[in-house]
Amino acid sequence: MDVRRTTQNSAPGRVIQPPVHARPVAGVAFRVEPFGAVAYVGERDDFFALDRDHAALLGDVLARGPVAVAGAVADQARTLAALGMLRTEPPTAQRPHLGRSLVGALTELPRLSGPLVVNCFSTANCPLRCAYCHADDLMAPAKAGERWSDVAAVLRTADQVPALVAVVTGGDPIVAPERASWLLGRLAPGKRLVLDTSGAGDLGPLLPALRRHRAHVRISVDSADAAVHDRLRPTSPRALPRGASSHALAHAALLRLAEAGVAHSVQTVVGGHNEAAGMLRRLRDHLIGLGVRHWVLHMAVPAGKAERRPGLLPGPDIAAQLRDLVDESEAAGSPLDIRVTGARSAPNSVLLVDSRGHLCVQRPDGPGKEVIWPAGRDGGPEQMSSCLNRHVDWAGHASRYLNGTLEPDPQLVPLGTQPRGR
Ligand code: SF4
Repeated sequence: MDVRRTTQNSAPGRVIQPPVHARPVAGVAFRVEPFGAVAYVGERDDFFALDRDHAALLGDVLARGPVAVAGAVADQARTLAALGMLRTEPPTAQRPHLGRSLVGALTELPRLSGPLVVNCFSTANCPLRCAYCHADDLMAPAKAGERWSDVAAVLRTADQVPALVAVVTGGDPIVAPERASWLLGRLAPGKRLVLDTSGAGDLGPLLPALRRHRAHVRISVDSADAAVHDRLRPTSPRALPRGASSHALAHAALLRLAEAGVAHSVQTVVGGHNEAAGMLRRLRDHLIGLGVRHWVLHMAVPAGKAERRPGLLPGPDIAAQLRDLVDESEAAGSPLDIRVTGARSAPNSVLLVDSRGHLCVQRPDGPGKEVIWPAGRDGGPEQMSSCLNRHVDWAGHASRYLNGTLEPDPQLVPLGTQPRGR
């Protein structure tokens, strides 16, 4: 192997260091951007925005295979390896990432050239009846009479959205594993994959597709306390035995994924039910004890059922509380990677393909979702791009997936809070 970058190493008087070998990692997606690139790490379910130097190195490794690097470029390789984007020899240990997902010289969340994520409903049915369900408005009218032609329509629309990652969701894919597996298989050639589930059911039928396509699985856990979790996320007696605990089922699912070697994380909806001081800290410590290393906190927003039940939303100081939790975790050297989302003032920052194949965003001007690309429509990339530019809040989209929600951006901090610097 050639040592391709050695200039800093050969400066007069400098001690010659052996080169670092940088190798590609499976499950990483990469897109060149005017500012450098965005990369997605499937194992961590994390996006990163890279400056041009880091983008050039990662692009080189992904396109051409292992390279030997030295000097400042070896430092860049170690930075990328610590975040899971490549691997080095000698090895670099991965570390959690808790702030904005910027690498190198970038100081602001960048303007993206296209979407990072499209959420794809594989079904409108679900074994739970969560009090705050954000997708209820899309699910309710589509639960009865689901057909295979619907999931084909979902694929047709999702294929046209130039996102790096597709999240197979619902409803809950666990109730219709054939449809979810079919969708995973068809989406895999063009996108990295995430499966979003409550875990309240049998993951077994989904495991072959999850393994084959290296999908990352997100499981929902709202509290370390089963009673709190089950009260907000009750099971439906039509789908599961009466009295079944969604908390216990989520934990069984986490164990099964760990045993199966499938990358996974926990997501938590933060609202009136669990925002009290101490509850999220207990949950954080509980997850660390379970061996979970990636945690996404979604501030409940006024969408779906939560739109009609404002009492379920978090209080006005939630951003400050979460910032304290993140700062404290970072200072304590917590092994958890933490990402926070909250789209209260950027509702049209999330792309959803509903279970009939319509591409939607949350309406920025009132309740409910807005269809921006109807099911069955075939347009070229330019038409899709102009549709997305008309309807998507790109700053909100970048902030959501590049962990900018807690930054002092008045547009993105929930109403009524006073942002402070970090
Ligand atoms: S698991 Fe998700 S889709 Fe199902 S009711 Fe709960 S929030 Fe809604």
